Amino acid sequence: MNQQEILNRTSIINVKNKLNLNEVCSFGDTIYVNCPFCYSENGDMKLNVSNNSYVCKKCEAKGYSIGLYARLKLKSNKEAFKELISLEPEINFEYTPTTYNNRKNEDELDIVYRELLRNLKLEDRHYKKLISYGFTNADIKNIGFKTIPLNESKKIEICKKLIKNGYELQGTPGFYQNANFKWTFKSHSGIFVPVINNNTIIGLRIHLDKKYNANTTDIWFSSKNEYNGSKAKNEFMILRPEGFNIQLVSNNNKQDVIIATEMILAHKLHSIYKNEIVIGIPNIISKSETIRLASLVNIDNVYLVMDFHTMSNSAVSAIENLYDYLGKDKIINLLSFNQGEIPEVIKDRFNIGEIKQNIA
Ligand SMILES: [Zn+2]
Repeated sequence: MNQQEILNRTSIINVKNKLNLNEVCSFGDTIYVNCPFCYSENGDMKLNVSNNSYVCKKCEAKGYSIGLYARLKLKSNKEAFKELISLEPEINFEYTPTTYNNRKNEDELDIVYRELLRNLKLEDRHYKKLISYGFTNADIKNIGFKTIPLNESKKIEICKKLIKNGYELQGTPGFYQNANFKWTFKSHSGIFVPVINNNTIIGLRIHLDKKYNANTTDIWFSSKNEYNGSKAKNEFMILRPEGFNIQLVSNNNKQDVIIATEMILAHKLHSIYKNEIVIGIPNIISKSETIRLASLVNIDNVYLVMDFHTMSNSAVSAIENLYDYLGKDKIINLLSFNQGEIPEVIKDRFNIGEIKQNIA
């Protein structure tokens, strides 16, 4: 199947038609439909034809076409993708989906990254390292840590397999074409750490075996300076209580949250404090990113847990930005000197709990 055909079938227009969403009106690149989540009758859900996104102004549900199809059909993004490309598209021809920009949206990244990870192994030395950080066997499987392959022909072979199975690699940070125009991906000796939001893998963080520039042990899987490569966005990872209803995010209850640098430490904290919101942040974040972070969750107090590398090198800007935006008295600074070590304050404040049954 060619790229245009995949684009047609995964477009927001095709998804709207497949789901029989009721169109109220349209202007330019925007179609207004009745929201299938809050059942509003006023065309509160806005579909953007140029970037395949949706957002409901009433219930604040938002995302992209594949994820919309997945949520309403109760499927994973990957299942939704496979189903959409296997069915004849229903496109009204006043809109022809075009490549708006090269970078894939979150749902598309989720599909490619999951498929990449599925084709990789976790070597024994990395398994032992993760166990030494305090992860259980089940955590390691659930989170999906994998060893990054370094062998070039092995990487090319994996890319070939992905493409053969219909996974377009263009626009996926980390992937690029080499001097022979063969698809491959960046690699460093280390572990892939999935960066997850609402069960969607939005990026891959690399936990390096050796320090990079003596500054950090964690970098993005990114390929910005390579041919047909893409730059990774500096993302946050928001891990919510299991079974947490995304629609409740917009209520007014402020909540204490745990913020951790780096992602691997955030995964560790959330594997223990399953009922809490744990936010993983990269070791460097800008002021505007801090503001965006604060807007994503209704934060009361922040328990900020920093790993040794962040604390000793780059944390100052992150802390200052958080102070500025949330207020100094709202932030409790904590340290985790050894990988995965849980600070005493966290142990006293939060309960190791079973999954909450009744969130409302
Ligand atoms: Zn809605």
